[in-house]
Amino acid sequence: MKAQSLNITPNPDAQGYYGRFGGAYVPEMLHRNVEELRTRYVEILEDQSFRKEMDALLRDYVGRPTPLYYAARLSSKLGTNIYLKREDLCHTGAHKINNTIGQILLAQRLQKTRIIAETGAGQHGVATATVCALMGMECVVYMGEKDIQRQAPNVARMRMLGATVVPATSGSKTLKDATNEAIRDWINHPNDTHYIIGSVVGPHPYPDLVARFQSVISAEMRSQLEEHTGSELPTHVVACVGGGSNAAGAFYHFIAEPSVDLVAVEAAGLGVDSGKSAATTRLGTEGILHGSRSLLMQTADGQVVEPHSISAGLDYPGIGPMHAHLFESGRGRFESATDEEALQASFEVARLEGIIPALETGHAFAVLPRLGLTQSDRVVVCLSGRGDKDLATYMERMSDF
Ligand SMILES: *Cc1c(COP(=O)(O)O)cnc(C)c1O
Repeated sequence: MKAQSLNITPNPDAQGYYGRFGGAYVPEMLHRNVEELRTRYVEILEDQSFRKEMDALLRDYVGRPTPLYYAARLSSKLGTNIYLKREDLCHTGAHKINNTIGQILLAQRLQKTRIIAETGAGQHGVATATVCALMGMECVVYMGEKDIQRQAPNVARMRMLGATVVPATSGSKTLKDATNEAIRDWINHPNDTHYIIGSVVGPHPYPDLVARFQSVISAEMRSQLEEHTGSELPTHVVACVGGGSNAAGAFYHFIAEPSVDLVAVEAAGLGVDSGKSAATTRLGTEGILHGSRSLLMQTADGQVVEPHSISAGLDYPGIGPMHAHLFESGRGRFESATDEEALQASFEVARLEGIIPALETGHAFAVLPRLGLTQSDRVVVCLSGRGDKDLATYMERMSDF
């Protein structure tokens, strides 16, 4: 059943394809920008001085390695062994900083002086504004006008960090419109500007670039599991999927290990068939979104369907091409959890473990009882972020759980 014979690797081929997904579908005007990245990224990432600088920042600034914590009470409740990879303890409270640290160092090597980014809920915008402040670089973050109103604390954080937040006022005034504005900016500033994409999406080489920066998560998991259990390999790795960057990082060094079950959890919203969902592998079809061929939620005539999830980080109408390939090949196991299930799981983890997870991560916890886990399993859950940002939502529902 497992993809043993498929020889799946964590990296795409030279054209940026994972199976039939990926590639770089960009307008002519952007070719030069993307080409520069494509021809330089591997050489830069593998350079000794780059690695040294990156490792030092991950250690001293981000706080890596993040702990791998044996969740005893949750394990006992589920009759198995659950380890939590504590990305919530990273500086800024989630895994996103692993990628922005890597990309700002890459931008410096490419002699760029100005950074742009798109953001939905503001989490990636904050992680980008943070590393720009750290490096003294100009930072412009595009954000849908509607999201600016909904996510005031993150807008304030970005501004305090010195970033300029530019409202996207077209279309639905959300993430997709902010992405369009960022691309327009990049076309107009090809020489001095680097565009930091926040997940394993976008044209090649972004999915691979972001996956490599996030792969520190599974590299640490292996050595930490060895310390805890005597074996580097878990039986399962479970992660939530918006665009798919924390999952890509958590799966990366296990993709070639067929004994490890890779469980990706999408947001079902009000239910997969409710019309208000973000469960891309259940509802999506093949198409091109943000510069790569992948699975996305679209109408028969190719209009992107507005997704829904209670968690802003999973509220995305597609998944990265690596995940589309993991899904189609059967190497990954794709599950989904509803808004209610994620809320309930977050409250349960808070009370069993004294850890308030991000609502995104609540989705990953919600599927654990469905995986048929036993006493001999060793399960790692990627705890992608802390729940402080979701406190308003949790407070609204406090009396229900
Ligand atoms: C942004 C975010 C996610 C979703 O993004 P991925 O690229 O799928 O990882 C998940 N969890 C948290 C805490 C986030 O901030």
